[in-house]
Amino acid sequence: MKITGPRRFLLIGLAAAAACQTVPYTGRSHLVLVSAGEETELGESSYRDALSKAKISTDAEAAALVRRVGGRIAVAADMPDFKWEFNLIDDPKTVNAWCLPGGKVAVYSGILPVTKDENGLAVVMGHEIAHALARHGSERMSQGLLAQLGGVALGAALSSRPEAAQRVAAQAYGAGATVGVLLPFSRAQESEADHIGLILMAKAGYDPTGAVAFWRRMAASAGGGGPPEFLRTHPADDKRIAKIEEELPEALGYLKK
Ligand SMILES: [Zn+2]
Repeated sequence: MKITGPRRFLLIGLAAAAACQTVPYTGRSHLVLVSAGEETELGESSYRDALSKAKISTDAEAAALVRRVGGRIAVAADMPDFKWEFNLIDDPKTVNAWCLPGGKVAVYSGILPVTKDENGLAVVMGHEIAHALARHGSERMSQGLLAQLGGVALGAALSSRPEAAQRVAAQAYGAGATVGVLLPFSRAQESEADHIGLILMAKAGYDPTGAVAFWRRMAASAGGGGPPEFLRTHPADDKRIAKIEEELPEALGYLKK
């Protein structure tokens, strides 16, 4: 049955209302037309794809650090449906880290000199995990579905217009890109991930005030070869640092005594 005319718009309206989700901790509502199951599947396949092209680190100590920090933040994030994985990629030239939907985390060894210690690594991993918790990738994909396919849910779009739906998914997740799996998030999403990331690291027992020093080190790391990947997608300007400073008292409230 093909539904057209006003009824079709009514149905889209209903679907959009049903797909309105609330971001944990910030309470912001956003449109998510991708189900948790679809999101997990996309995260899983993009992760396998990225890992197959990467060199997993054999530095047992550094890899254990990534798993320890990730594990503590995962407990704080409290997402029972996530299938967490934390991998350290041996790539000293790449200053980057990301977390795909469902809790699939990659840290590149090139970011470790900037994170400096365990607390600094918790800043980055808390931030990246916050993007997944807030479903920012699916939010971006939903904006694409809304703009290009009239706001239909991903599942419906995949069956009715598979090529167009796959294009939207590829634009949102940028799977297979050499600089990283994810395309840049919006400034608003970045700011929200900073906010939630501070809370997650504090809940995990890390000191969120370390975020200010980390972002200053990140800003200073832009050397002669141009800014590293992470800095290109995560501008470490004064505005970002000032906002983090404003949010510290709230995050410190979560720090286990
Ligand atoms: Zn980010």
